[in-house]
Amino acid sequence: MTRIVYLNGAWLPEADAKVSIFDRGFLFADAIYEVTGVVDGKLLEYAGHAARLQRSTTELGITCPLTPDELLAVHREIVSRNALKEGLIYLQISRGAADRDFAFPTNPTPTLTLFTQAKPVLDNSKVATGIAVALLPDQRWARRDIKTVQLLYPSMAKMEAMRQGADDAWLVEDGFVTEASSATAHIITANGRLVTRGLSNAILHGITRASVLDIAEKADIPYEERAFTPDEAKNAAEAFITSATNFVLPVTTIDGQPVGTGKPGPLTLRLRELYIQKKLADAI
Ligand code: PLP
Repeated sequence: MTRIVYLNGAWLPEADAKVSIFDRGFLFADAIYEVTGVVDGKLLEYAGHAARLQRSTTELGITCPLTPDELLAVHREIVSRNALKEGLIYLQISRGAADRDFAFPTNPTPTLTLFTQAKPVLDNSKVATGIAVALLPDQRWARRDIKTVQLLYPSMAKMEAMRQGADDAWLVEDGFVTEASSATAHIITANGRLVTRGLSNAILHGITRASVLDIAEKADIPYEERAFTPDEAKNAAEAFITSATNFVLPVTTIDGQPVGTGKPGPLTLRLRELYIQKKLADAI
């Protein structure tokens, strides 16, 4: 089935959606994005993604062409036009097209595009086994709090991790884990404390991360927001990643070394259950 995508106010078959070669998203990665999970045709964590989108556009001085209400309506319409039951909505806003110049153009018209990807997100075979991660240097730019489309290094890191036989990379900077290539990294200590890096420019402020901390708080699972080292991670009782479409996903080996028992940890699986329950109940 050919998808219907959204491009600057138009609904088009995917093959007809064309963006200028002068678009600054294409030439400079001058664009930001969001990924919203969809289950049962409903949007997961929409408010969080909309708020982060707003923050990213403000940080870069890009103006979103739609009001918050219009943006929500477009999300709902793309789900219904594509009869999307489960998967994700990808949204991107670039500064727009202008003759190539490092200086930002004055009054550009932003390029707003959305498309869907249908895929199972609830039923993930990796939950039973957990994933393997490889530790690699974090060589991304220093404003990782802005969700830009500068994804070449994370993409290279994922390829290198896969070359090493792992599923993903955990990135390391100044002796501490920052995050995964496209997810937040967490560990659980031997005494059952959830440890996740504090918010700063070093990591993306994960929407799933925020919800998991909220859930931990309500479930009396103690947590600490602080950086942890690769050694602490390798010696942790459990480890996991969070993201919009992985939810809470166990990590069972780090650089080939089993984490804890080498099986998905009980607290990780409990957090996954609680997270899914809550997010499905709150989906809009
Ligand atoms: N960190 C990075 C670098 C990411 O790319 C992502 C998601 O794409 C995340 C963390 C997780 O963020 P969220 O939970 O909002 O999907």
